[in-house]
Amino acid sequence: MAKIPNELIDQIRDAVNIVDVISQDVQLKRQGKNLMGHCPFHRDDTPSFAVNEQKQFFYCFSCHRSGNVFGFLQQLHNLSFPEAVQQVAEMANISLPQQYTNRAEQSVENSPKGQLIKLHDQAARLYHHILVNTEAGQQALHYLTKRGMSREMIEQFSLGFAPEQSDTEEVLLEYATGQQLDYQLLRKSGLFTEDHQGKLHDRFHGRVMYPIKNESGHVIAFSGRILAPKATANEPKYMNSPETPIFNKRRVLFNLDLAKQAARENGSLTLFEGFMDVISAYDAGVKTGIASMGTNLTEEQIRIIQRLVQQVNVCYDGDDPGQNAINRALQMFEDNAPQLTVKIIQLPGGLDPDEYVQKYGAIKFKDYLQHSQENAIEFHLRYLQRGLNLQNQDELMGYLNAALRVIAGVAEPVAQDLYLQKLAEQFNLDKQSLAKQLGAIQPTVQPARQRSHPSPARRTQWCNRPAPQPAAEPSAPTQHLASKLENAEQMLLKYYLDDEGIRTMVRGIDDFAFPDQAYQQLQREIDNCLSEHDEISTAALIDRLDDPQAKQLLAQIEAQSLNENVSDEAVNDLIRVIMDEAPLTQQINAKRAALNEAAMMNDQELTTKLATELVNLYQRQQQMKTEELN
Ligand SMILES: [Zn+2]
Repeated sequence: MAKIPNELIDQIRDAVNIVDVISQDVQLKRQGKNLMGHCPFHRDDTPSFAVNEQKQFFYCFSCHRSGNVFGFLQQLHNLSFPEAVQQVAEMANISLPQQYTNRAEQSVENSPKGQLIKLHDQAARLYHHILVNTEAGQQALHYLTKRGMSREMIEQFSLGFAPEQSDTEEVLLEYATGQQLDYQLLRKSGLFTEDHQGKLHDRFHGRVMYPIKNESGHVIAFSGRILAPKATANEPKYMNSPETPIFNKRRVLFNLDLAKQAARENGSLTLFEGFMDVISAYDAGVKTGIASMGTNLTEEQIRIIQRLVQQVNVCYDGDDPGQNAINRALQMFEDNAPQLTVKIIQLPGGLDPDEYVQKYGAIKFKDYLQHSQENAIEFHLRYLQRGLNLQNQDELMGYLNAALRVIAGVAEPVAQDLYLQKLAEQFNLDKQSLAKQLGAIQPTVQPARQRSHPSPARRTQWCNRPAPQPAAEPSAPTQHLASKLENAEQMLLKYYLDDEGIRTMVRGIDDFAFPDQAYQQLQREIDNCLSEHDEISTAALIDRLDDPQAKQLLAQIEAQSLNENVSDEAVNDLIRVIMDEAPLTQQINAKRAALNEAAMMNDQELTTKLATELVNLYQRQQQMKTEELN
């Protein structure tokens, strides 16, 4: 493919604001000159992901990932550079000339994943057509309408119908054969089953089809609900696509593509148990609804939620299994995203959201969701009462003990006092005696972890689980204290980047060079950039660096803040440090390499000689360091 020229890349990059692009995936908050958020690339309890709007680049203080808008999209969505450029061009409404898009477009669409996504989009359209336009879809359409599904929602969620299997035709297979699609592609798609002769058959038949979309709104799988179960067959009510190269159910949340847009204004997502709940909530005007595939929430899904919002509302069914599922979900949130605010919405009378909407209507439902949120402590206190007869003295005592353990896990004394008050009122007990009993429990209960955002305390030890292990940090580059030389190099390069006067000064020194490769490349590219533009743009610079180390260095340097009115002497000092120390460091490195070689060659005499020399060099280095300290 023709390489996209630098000028066009610059134009596309400059046409968007990195903050707008990243905000689609990460919730950002302004903090000084940066915008901060939770890093989307790993579990990140304290926001360590910084976006510098002025310089149009991002940097994570924890995993040290960095880059401009292209780099962000590349890393988050696994794109090639041309694909990222093309995506940004689309956002900016810039049409890329044919010679640059062709290949890029082809490479996405013709990639195995691209083809699978295309097949799913086509299948969704086919099933939808059958549902709304054909005789075969009549019964399913009638069923959906009877369940209160509006035509608008059928369109919005592209619902469809996979007709009953007949000996003569299998609709999807026929369609795929007509399109002359590759057999291996069909096999991998999960849309077909394979018999012992290797012949393919439609996987879904006689089912209402709910397309499952990825975060960008492409269909990647289906969930099919059986329309008329045959008495003889033992078929499951819901059947999902199997895992495929494009569908990992641990990572998928139903309706996330639409919900995340609504969540951007709203600040929260609402987690439901099933697709139908999400759809009826959507119809009722609650557009932030999502559902996991099956009731058990996964760590991956929690990470996605945490990346997008600060609050999640859990609205599962009001029946017992629903309550148990809430309890499990709470524990998952507690363990994996302790800084996320979790609210529980308990629907009355054991109803599920879909039933509630049908019974009381959309307006009441929306109102209920907004005004009937309880926090995790309130939920647990209520949850512990399940199945107990609290008129019975023993059962009441058991409950009070368990409840006090929950309250003991609350970090804030004022909140603790409030729960105690409520408990006393609820059972007409003396608050002082409850407090006394709480005092007896407290020392055995681990106090809540310190959290960066104080929120209604949620760390509870009520079920005596071992405290969760902190997640392993992502493999960060080895942390070491920067040496004096490194410090000087970084500072000087930062000044070099920012200050024309200092550039002139450095260029004026004859034999000056940064001892490190990465610094040298960065310096060279700064000079190149300046020969083409009047001023340096960090975002543009990143695109010109091909050494990943140099890219990271640039981000590191940009993340530093330095004295803006530095004196010439101070800069001269930096240069002197670099020029004085560099030769010694370089000598040590060279000597070490030679020593390794000699050792490998088993040259005893040379090894001894080099080792002695190396020790001498180390001593000199040590001496210089001691002098620095004095
Ligand atoms: Zn990070």
